[in-house]
Amino acid sequence: MSRANFYTWLKNSRLVDKKEGVLFVSLPNNFAKEWVEHKYQKTILGIVRNHDSSAKKIEFLVTSQTEELVSRRVSASDFSKFENRMDLEFKTDPETNLNPRYSAKSFIVGPSNELAYTAATSIIREVGTKYNPFFIYGGVGLGKTHLIQMIGNEISAVYGGKVRPRYVSSEKFTTDVVWAIRNRRMEDIKRKYRDVDVLIIDDIQFIGGKEKTEEEFFHTFNALYENNKQIIISSDRPPQSIPTLEERLSSRFQGGLIADIGYPEYETRVAILHHKLQESNRQLPPEIVDLVAKKVKKNIRELEGVLNKILFYQEVKRTEVSLRMAEEIIEKSVRNVAHRISDDQILKSVAEFFNIGLQELIDKGRRKEVVEPRQVAMYLLRDILDMSYPYIGEKLGRDHTTAIHAVEKINQEINKNSALNQKINLIKENLYKS
Ligand code: ADP
Ligand code: MG
Repeated sequence: MSRANFYTWLKNSRLVDKKEGVLFVSLPNNFAKEWVEHKYQKTILGIVRNHDSSAKKIEFLVTSQTEELVSRRVSASDFSKFENRMDLEFKTDPETNLNPRYSAKSFIVGPSNELAYTAATSIIREVGTKYNPFFIYGGVGLGKTHLIQMIGNEISAVYGGKVRPRYVSSEKFTTDVVWAIRNRRMEDIKRKYRDVDVLIIDDIQFIGGKEKTEEEFFHTFNALYENNKQIIISSDRPPQSIPTLEERLSSRFQGGLIADIGYPEYETRVAILHHKLQESNRQLPPEIVDLVAKKVKKNIRELEGVLNKILFYQEVKRTEVSLRMAEEIIEKSVRNVAHRISDDQILKSVAEFFNIGLQELIDKGRRKEVVEPRQVAMYLLRDILDMSYPYIGEKLGRDHTTAIHAVEKINQEINKNSALNQKINLIKENLYKS
């Protein structure tokens, strides 16, 4: 190879990994990658073999991909362990199905949620009689689940065992109804959901269009309502905007108090960050707190996620995070959101990449050729859009446990299987380009 060619194409190449005879070599961009693949692959492999007879194949990657590959390898599972640790140890109460981490103490009140919060405190004082039903709606990650569980937890604390709340996700409610129908055990449902004083049902939009579940919920609702039992409902949109929700249910919801939660203001975001730091006994320089609060505006879960990433970095590196480093971490985390990739785009890209029909992702088939794409699709919905498991399940016609399983499986595989890792990176690259 001529010196000029070497300088143009190979000077910036790097061996990043070797696995089962495959050497992974990084190149600075796609153009170089294509060129080297076509022109020099054989030559290079020949030379490498002279030094290392176990080499079977060379795979070229673009540097950005390899960075991701390397950083993922060290951090994906470590970070999730770290996040679990940050979440302190809270256990869901089996009786009420409430998680004590959703406390009133940890709920920061600001203009965006003040109305909903005030209504919540009235409900705690006058259970069942003040605002019934209480319907709360708002976008993803804005605190709906926290608020409605907080009401349940406070009621438990204030009234001891005298007023019994029960929390259920719509997903779980649906699964219970399906189970009861199949096993002819509708009585069980009635006992479980009508024999409570406060029924809290989360993400009601998921029952829209499921006739049997809607019907059972309608009867449950009426039975509770007539007995002055408190009903608390959350949704990602107002009742009249849930497209397939039966009119009679929608109008029941509108009979009580409807409140919304909006995007938190800057000051609220700062207060939430301070609270989280205090809770976990950690510190960050004020300019970094300020930076995070300025950059992450529309999702409190994401705000916490970015904070955790910075704290994680600080812990791993054992140094204070610089402003520039924080900027980079934020940039990486919010990039996805800024690009506004939709769930349908993700499914379409996955189907296209694996060369299968969109419908096959959703269908029940268990052929090997569709199982991996389906799992990858679920993983990407979680990874890129941070969607909830019930929603991911819903999107692919599966239940939430299948979604959890798929995401975890890919999460583990990705660390061991470079081919899979690369496929996923390529799909992502396509998504970000489009
Ligand atoms: P939603 O149900 O609306 O998608 P969540 O209630 O799950 O959102 O909230 C997402 C995360 O943000 C949770 O970890 C929650 O504790 C936190 N969070 C939301 N609102 C607040 C708030 N006002 N104060 C403190 N933490 C909050
Ligand atoms: Mg929620």
